[in-house]
Amino acid sequence: MSAPARRPIRRLERGTVHRIAAGEVVERPASVVKELIENAFDAGASHVAVRIEEGGLRRIEVADDGCGIPPEELGLALERHATSKIGPSDPIERIASLGFRGEALASIATVSRLRLTSRTPDREEASGIATAGGEQPLRFEEGRSVGTTVEVADLFYNTPARRKFLHAPAVEQLEVLRAVEHLYVARPSVALRLTADGREIAGFPASEDLREATAHVLGAEMLDQSFVVEAELPGLGRIRGVLGRPNLATGSPRRFYLSVNGRTIESRAIAQAIRAAYLQYIPRTRFPIGALHLAVPLDRVDVNVHPTKREVRFARETELVEAVRIAVRRALLDCPGLARVPEIAATVRRFSPEESLEEGFSTRSESPLGPWPARTAPLGSRSVGPGAAGQRRLFERPDAPTLEARPGLPAISLLGVLDALYWVGTTPTGFVLIDQHAASERLLFEVLVADGHLARQVLVDPLTISLTPAQRAAWEVHRSTVADAGFDVEPFGGDRVRVLSVPAYRGHRARAESVRELLEELSTGTRPTQPDGMVERVAATIACHAAIRAGDAIPPDELARVLDALYERASAVYSCPHGRPILFDLPRSRIDRWFLRAGP
Ligand code: ADP
Ligand code: MG
Repeated sequence: MSAPARRPIRRLERGTVHRIAAGEVVERPASVVKELIENAFDAGASHVAVRIEEGGLRRIEVADDGCGIPPEELGLALERHATSKIGPSDPIERIASLGFRGEALASIATVSRLRLTSRTPDREEASGIATAGGEQPLRFEEGRSVGTTVEVADLFYNTPARRKFLHAPAVEQLEVLRAVEHLYVARPSVALRLTADGREIAGFPASEDLREATAHVLGAEMLDQSFVVEAELPGLGRIRGVLGRPNLATGSPRRFYLSVNGRTIESRAIAQAIRAAYLQYIPRTRFPIGALHLAVPLDRVDVNVHPTKREVRFARETELVEAVRIAVRRALLDCPGLARVPEIAATVRRFSPEESLEEGFSTRSESPLGPWPARTAPLGSRSVGPGAAGQRRLFERPDAPTLEARPGLPAISLLGVLDALYWVGTTPTGFVLIDQHAASERLLFEVLVADGHLARQVLVDPLTISLTPAQRAAWEVHRSTVADAGFDVEPFGGDRVRVLSVPAYRGHRARAESVRELLEELSTGTRPTQPDGMVERVAATIACHAAIRAGDAIPPDELARVLDALYERASAVYSCPHGRPILFDLPRSRIDRWFLRAGP
């Protein structure tokens, strides 16, 4: 994978300059790191070492073993619109290198103290150039092996307004790590190392195997719980990738890595196509993980539409996206041991929360009926439905837990539970359906926001788990948050930690593994539909992972306790912190309408 023979750096013609999407490439340390690593890739490096201090705010250093820059071109390297990557007769419509604008070093140099040291293979020494704010470059000679080192100190020291937009070092550090992960997954043939404040936080070895590479970034489960997508998209390009099986789906969209012709990019359209490919295999609130490499003819993709080249534009995008969806869907369905689900015809009408809201589907039903007639005979404790033993439970009437009515809230008598998820109860006006995960999640969220912490239960058998570099970094940033959530975690050597306690609430305790999911989310930022404030956001994330889950078989009184506590906080009953409904009221009047019994 060596780069084509190096060409001299030259100034771009004015016409070309006008056609490139100029823009600020330097937003934060992570964007500096990205530009510098891309330069190393373009220089044919096989090893790149990144060192940062204080999240990159104090210092960033990227060293590579690429082709180097001859001393007479060092000045040009720092000049705007000077590049070795487009020749005079090259159309910018066919760009194979990652860089092409000749802007990055110039932009970085104007907002930092920059030092560039480089040695080409034909020289015995390295030459360097240093500047503060891009002014009066200074030359020097130094010992160095072949390759280039760029050091960037005091980012934004001369533009305090920009500095203000930066986050705490720990947060910037996570962003840097994420940039490194993206670049590694896009080109795992280059070894990448990240050292933060003198400690190596990620070491990604060169690998020709994408599955192995994704395992370094996404966790060892990728080795045996992933599948390969490899397909020709006729007339459009090729795709190759490794994606996690549905059980590895996570709460954040940011663990899916897409690259197009070796370039790390984001594409909503493709991300959506991937989710669509997993339809019916993962819930709508979760996102597939993995990496996809898309190769398309150079003239079918415009890489020149975004200042930081984060997005690209495809010719025939609709067709391409659909072809990607089909390829991924096929590969997913080929997974051995994947449970078959019947394909849902597009015309099947499903219940949606919107629908119910529209039709006044709330407890305050417009025409309350009389009390629900009491059953004459108790229902036996038996399962209903064919072969669903244990899945559908009905309770004996005498021990059916009940909740007293509160203002605006109905009295509920629990009848049973479907698939260890949806509970059915009766109310004075009809039925109620309750999602056990959403209810528990909402309660924990309320408690967290009110008290700032959850109760914990010490584990008799502490659980040892391994963390990915990103999860580990998130733990270091959010240690106290994780502790407040009720998870006592301690280092256990290497990439492993030990979970000593878990959050527990009213008889329910979280699974120890959920700390990984919590860290995963803390490491990838927010979910698409989250409440605003930071406290609420973190609380929502914690609540989700500490809550009773769909599929946990819990006794009715446990749910009753959750509901009772929710009733004490009446405002919280109708939706979970992520906005999903907790409870649907099905008044008799609505049921009558279904059966075409017009009301009186
Ligand atoms: P671009 O990458 O768009 O050309 P940059 O400002 O990032 O613009 O870099 C300017 C030029 O400096 C590049 O075209 C390349 O010739 C040279 N250069 C930058 N970084 C390196 C590196 N790590 N190794 C070799 N050459 C480099
Ligand atoms: Mg560049």
